[in-house]
Amino acid sequence: MAELTGRVALITGGGRGIGRAIALSLAHAGADVAVSGRSADVLEETVSAIRAIGPRAAAIVCDVGERSQVDDMVAQVGKALGNPLILVNNAGIAGSAKLSETTDDMWDAMLRVNATGAFYCMRALVPMMIDAKWGRVVNIASIAARAGAAYIAAYSASKHALLGLTRAIAAEVAAKGVTVNAICPGYVDTEMTDRSAAFISARTRRNEQEARKILEGFSPQQRLMTAEEVAGIAAYLCSEAARGINGQGIVLDGGALQG
Ligand code: NAP
Repeated sequence: MAELTGRVALITGGGRGIGRAIALSLAHAGADVAVSGRSADVLEETVSAIRAIGPRAAAIVCDVGERSQVDDMVAQVGKALGNPLILVNNAGIAGSAKLSETTDDMWDAMLRVNATGAFYCMRALVPMMIDAKWGRVVNIASIAARAGAAYIAAYSASKHALLGLTRAIAAEVAAKGVTVNAICPGYVDTEMTDRSAAFISARTRRNEQEARKILEGFSPQQRLMTAEEVAGIAAYLCSEAARGINGQGIVLDGGALQG
């Protein structure tokens, strides 16, 4: 029997990119998986891929920044698959601007989705994990949660908030059989990074391939990380072997950020 057989996982932003890779990885580990996001079509495609692996799956349309939608999502997962004792807060948005051009809307959207959305999901689900005396929360933060960088004030603030939330709740649940950790990747090869390359290209008159090279150069390995590498860490954090790892922000960037 696979290690997570009988467990139910909820992955926000699970229809594409890193979230989709995590959904498939947890399904391979035996978990039944609910994926949520705003785009029904990509969620349905991911659900088909999970069912092809074997476990049960559900797609739930939900904007994580809307509390009532999060409450509905939690109820729907419970009905479809059972209470999720694994939560992966992966839904996120990114954007770049210098401070003077960071608008109220940009700031609010980034904090709402990247930090408040994760807070809503954790507040709804962590009590169920405590009752069950077992639970795993994996928050997909960023190296921008561990270090500042130019032109990403709103993104960096939102990811620092997510890491702070991770550490605080980890301390709160440490004796309850629940762990709460964050993964802090550098640039990962997904549509989000494609958009970053397009943005650099538009701003600097470099072509998109040259822009990608700049992003690859942030890692001493001169490459983008892959969604599957992030998913491997997430699956490990959900395993029994990782039960002692709690309150961490695990960096995956090829060694740029140390310590
Ligand atoms: P992506 O391909 O753009 O995927 C983002 C996911 O989040 C999509 O599934 C999207 O689904 C969902 N999402 C966005 N806003 C949402 C909202 N309001 N409510 C619910 N779902 C929402 O990006 P990715 O690279 O896979 O990123 C996943 C996570 O990793 C993000 O938190 C990101 O900050 C983090 N991360 C990414 C990188 C990178 O280089 N790519 C590096 C470090 C950290 P819908 O659009 O359908 O809602």
